[in-house]
Amino acid sequence: MQVFGLLGSPVEHSLSPPMHEAAYRELGMDARYVTFEPAVEEFEGAIEGARALGIRGLNVTIPFKRDALTHCEPDALAARIGAVNTLDLGERTPTGHNTDAAGVRRAFVHHGVSLSGRAVVVGAGGAGRAAAFALADRGVVVAVANRTVERARELAGEIDAASGHGLDALPELLADADLLVNATSVGMESDESPVPADALHGGLAVLDAVYRPAETRLLREAAAAGARTIDGTWMLLYQGVAAFERWTGREAPVAAMGEALRARI
Ligand code: NAP
Repeated sequence: MQVFGLLGSPVEHSLSPPMHEAAYRELGMDARYVTFEPAVEEFEGAIEGARALGIRGLNVTIPFKRDALTHCEPDALAARIGAVNTLDLGERTPTGHNTDAAGVRRAFVHHGVSLSGRAVVVGAGGAGRAAAFALADRGVVVAVANRTVERARELAGEIDAASGHGLDALPELLADADLLVNATSVGMESDESPVPADALHGGLAVLDAVYRPAETRLLREAAAAGARTIDGTWMLLYQGVAAFERWTGREAPVAAMGEALRARI
């Protein structure tokens, strides 16, 4: 039996186990996906122990995404983003990857949105960094807007042709933008949007990283403005798809994984 898993805290409500196990069922694989909550000081030992036990791959989530960088060989993208969410334990030294970036790209592509033109990324935390690098690497011109403007400027400074702004610049930035990503947590706890509704327009494709709830205020207002909307379950799905494909070398059964995930939102 192959074993995969997730290291984080808390992991109780994670949607990764049902999503990955749906893939194993669909493909008739003898495999399990298990969650672990190691103490912070036991993180390194947890990775070593997992390798010793023959666990093939681990996802990594809060609070370990940054720490994971120093306990593996990160690929170039994960190193630039500054966070690892997927460990491949099949090598002598674990390798680290950031599939949130693939999640952003593949969520857009799945909906027929071309990765070109100008993008506004709202947020400069982990998801914002993944989105900004994911899009800039495809040649999209990225503007980052963040509540803490220094963080937006710092991130933009790491990316060619990117710019950093406060949230007050959103109307101006969005006027000629093609893509919008909400990578803040706004919309999760309450019915709020980080983007003024009157700055949204029909020329935008809008991805919200927030997936609980799937239909956020931002997406409702974007749809009302005529924009194409993509909810956060698509990003979550495709980061899982990318991890599955890396670990197994097989094409992921995307529809089965998406169905299992959405059944639990
Ligand atoms: P994070 O590193 O803690 O960053 C949080 C971001 O949200 C920062 O840019 C922060 O701005 C901003 N923010 C928080 N509260 C705000 C407020 N009231 N007004 C304006 N901005 C606010 O978190 P993260 O890991 O990037 O996650 C961000 C969101 O993305 C979460 O909802 C998470 O669930 C979601 N996410 C989804 C996926 C997916 O697969 N769908 C993957 C990863 C993350 P400051 O810098 O000013 O604090």
